[in-house]
Amino acid sequence: MYSRLHKCARAGLHHRLTSQHYSTGILKKKESQPRLIQPGKTLHGFLCTEVEHIKEYNMTAYFLVHEKAKTEYLHLERDDSNNVFSVGFRTTPLDSMGTPHILEHTVLCGSEKYPVRDPFFKMLNRSLATFMNALTGPDYTFYPFSSQNEIDYRNLQKVYLDAVFKPNLARLDFLQEGWRLEHSNIEDKSSDLTFKGVVYNEMKGAFSETGSLFGQKFINTILPEGTYGYVSGGDPLHIPELTHSFLKDFHSRYYHPSNSRIYSYGNFPLDANLKFVNEAYLSKYAYLDPKHSIVQPQPRWKSPKRSEITCRVDQYGVPIEKQNQIAIGYVMSDITNIYETFMTLALSELMIIGPNSAFYKSLIEKNISGGYNSLTGYDNQIRDTLFVVGLKDVEASKFEMVESIVNQTLEKIHKEGFEKDHIESVLHGFELSIKHQSPKFGLNLLFNLMPLWNHNGPILNALKVNSLLNQLKSDLMDPKFVKNVIEKNFIQNNHKLTMTMKPDPKFDDLFNEAEARNLATRVKSLTEKQKEDIYKEGVELSVAQKKAQSLEVLPCLKIDEITLNKTAPPIKHTVSETIPLQLCEANTNGVTYFKGVIGTDCLDEAQKELLPFFTYVATKFDTKSYNYRDFDKYVSKTTSGLGFLNHITEHIDQHGQYEQGLVISSHCLDEYLPKMMDIWSEIFSKPDFSNTERMKMLLNNYCSSLSNGVIDSGHTYAMQAARSLISSVDECKEHLMGLHHVITMQEIQKKQPIEQVQATVDQISKMTLNGTNLRAAFHYCNTNADIHLCIDHFCKRLCKGVDNKDMNRINWIDSRTFPKDNRGIHIQMNIPVNFCAKVIPTVPYTDPDYAKLRVLSRFITSKYLHPIVREQNGAYGGGAMLTLDGVFNYYSYRDPNSRVTLDVFDETSEWMTKNTELVDDQNLFEAKLSILQQMDQPIAEYMKGIDLFLFGLSYDIWKTQRERVLAVTKEDLIEVCNKYLSRDKWSGKCVIGEGSKDLKEGGVTWETISGPQQ
Ligand SMILES: [Zn+2]
Repeated sequence: MYSRLHKCARAGLHHRLTSQHYSTGILKKKESQPRLIQPGKTLHGFLCTEVEHIKEYNMTAYFLVHEKAKTEYLHLERDDSNNVFSVGFRTTPLDSMGTPHILEHTVLCGSEKYPVRDPFFKMLNRSLATFMNALTGPDYTFYPFSSQNEIDYRNLQKVYLDAVFKPNLARLDFLQEGWRLEHSNIEDKSSDLTFKGVVYNEMKGAFSETGSLFGQKFINTILPEGTYGYVSGGDPLHIPELTHSFLKDFHSRYYHPSNSRIYSYGNFPLDANLKFVNEAYLSKYAYLDPKHSIVQPQPRWKSPKRSEITCRVDQYGVPIEKQNQIAIGYVMSDITNIYETFMTLALSELMIIGPNSAFYKSLIEKNISGGYNSLTGYDNQIRDTLFVVGLKDVEASKFEMVESIVNQTLEKIHKEGFEKDHIESVLHGFELSIKHQSPKFGLNLLFNLMPLWNHNGPILNALKVNSLLNQLKSDLMDPKFVKNVIEKNFIQNNHKLTMTMKPDPKFDDLFNEAEARNLATRVKSLTEKQKEDIYKEGVELSVAQKKAQSLEVLPCLKIDEITLNKTAPPIKHTVSETIPLQLCEANTNGVTYFKGVIGTDCLDEAQKELLPFFTYVATKFDTKSYNYRDFDKYVSKTTSGLGFLNHITEHIDQHGQYEQGLVISSHCLDEYLPKMMDIWSEIFSKPDFSNTERMKMLLNNYCSSLSNGVIDSGHTYAMQAARSLISSVDECKEHLMGLHHVITMQEIQKKQPIEQVQATVDQISKMTLNGTNLRAAFHYCNTNADIHLCIDHFCKRLCKGVDNKDMNRINWIDSRTFPKDNRGIHIQMNIPVNFCAKVIPTVPYTDPDYAKLRVLSRFITSKYLHPIVREQNGAYGGGAMLTLDGVFNYYSYRDPNSRVTLDVFDETSEWMTKNTELVDDQNLFEAKLSILQQMDQPIAEYMKGIDLFLFGLSYDIWKTQRERVLAVTKEDLIEVCNKYLSRDKWSGKCVIGEGSKDLKEGGVTWETISGPQQ
């Protein structure tokens, strides 16, 4: 799935204070609501065909069909203020030119009513959207957003609908977003031609990411007929076959109301939605039979097949001879068979997840690999659903053995079935997840329903989870049922693919050669006229990109339309035994939530280095009363699972101080609270880490998981590494979470005897898992009567025999001071694009200048970095952000040109001096609005007051910050820009990727790091 904002801009907006906050999804019980419309009635051109009350989610579903265009419309009415809207299309190309993906980008380049380049990105600053995105899946494209503000919601609706139904699809936009030939020096006709384009580069990046390459090839091979045989995002070697006229034609056939599905969710009136979509768009279209977009079920194979592919070498991965993967997959039922897909989901949990599952026992515990690969699991996002089990980091010589183990395991399940209490624990997980008020409820429903709806599946029935669950309960307990399913879906299933992937040191060269050949053929066939056009269009595009745009046509929220929608959370602080508690009664729908912070100040450096690994293993061993398999059953039968994470947080007003520790968390149905606390008591009474084989296996799996994701979020790694050059809290984070940690763990894996690892893990557990070392937070409903008794009991158990009554758990660590020279770190990686970062220390959160810098970061992102780094220099994204302790971060994402980008970062204050007229009322307001977008995100009930608990950030401090943001003036922006961001300020830099030869310029001392595998 390619998501336009997901990986760059949204990730760039990521800020710790708001990243965990989404919809509240509060359920206020309103039993008998008058229905908006009855089945058989029409409203604004729509015929209502079905209305259902969905008891489990306390909402009412309305299904409507437009009478003329036959557009399908689903409205989920629910008392939730975080309203969602989405328009989607079934997009099923029969080639790999990436048409739907390029179309997704190009429709967002200006439309009839809003002829503005990138209105989508521009709306990011003119809205209080809690989510905005555009996504291309293998067979659909959809455009969702959410907002709590109704004026904003209507604004976004207008821009979105005009973009998809009435886009300009101008030729220059196609060239910019899709692909083009361009002179390496635009002004110089004699300079070489190269391939350029946003999607072209994006897909080059995606194809160098091993996990997504394997996933893509696997689907193409196991479902070769029809649309799944192709790359919907675009294969870089085929993208240049796409023409502008084909793109326009594709739009008229696929982005037609008759091929579209519209969704709305929340408490805004349906009537206004229907009226608007009907009058402005749907009523103007004639019906077009969407048969061309239908996906036919895949013809089933008569015998299994196998296939081999190659990938790039992961420089930061395990030794090359182990960097192989294998995946064995089966085509399962049609997606529209909702009970089958629901049942298979449960089955895949029973077979794959946790130490009691069959494949975990037979494959993972054999310790021949780095664990399951990313394909493993049940994929029910496409018409023919897939069950895959696969391993990563496994020697090629073990492939045969893996295949026979998989077959034996299936035979064993066929013969013996599943244990009853294992089935119960999986069912419990389903029940708990229905009750848990997920922060993005309306969006999650959309993401779950869209693939099913796309193939005309029974979406209203799919929402009635309780009835599916009841049937599942009785079926799974019947051994005959399980036996039949395994026989039919696996043992006798001939539509089976075994695919292996091996690294090839020449992988990148081969791609580059193919690209060069592609380029040469294309250039050779150009006529003089075409060459002239390429030159002209290159110049034209670069002029167009630099042209200032008038954004007045775009709607924008106004200052008086913004209201403060948060109140201080009702939290209470108390102490039980020696444990400080933060208690919050909230509307948690019968679920109780626990969080704890454990201090790790007492550890030495070698122990701290292993902390992330400790969090990975801490809940996976035998405890005092249980062996690890029984313990896992106990955990999954009563809780959501146990969370164990590293916690490093900067002091919000003391520059250079930080807290280091671990965060633990879990939740459960109210009635299981005593059991959940008993489970944590087991952990606090120290697990037994003496099982050497298990420790070895977990270490291998852990190390294999580490280098994943570097390419996907390279900009966060780059910022992290750059920050480690200027601040000791970030040096600490780099050691625990950055690439530094990846390298350290590989050293440990290679050189340290496992007994030493065991001993360190054991010491960490003995030194940190104490009642004296914990502070805890609980969120619970007023219906949970036993809560206080239960918490007290837990605290007593943890503090038994402890006399230390020192309750101040926060041990702030003082930073060491860094020499103030400008340093850079170049992290060598064999990928075709770069990630760049520059960081400058400024002031912490509570300083009055902080809010000004925060607004400035948004201002220069949208007015300076985005236009230059993305639109002119061809990076996928670029921006600036501020951390809690006031490190100002610049980044670029999938960047073809690191040197230029670093210069752009350096020139910020000069640019500002020359462009002060850009700091006008509207631009200033937009920058503020995008900060409020983060600050005003709805907070889930179970997250209320958590900023205070984790980061010391109270509601009052937050509110002051919000007021300061609103009060920032034009003069403030210019002043802080000169004061903090001028070229001569102390800074750190980082480039991940091949870099460029001229990196070393500019008075910066560069250090190069390269991975162990070359
Ligand atoms: Zn894209």
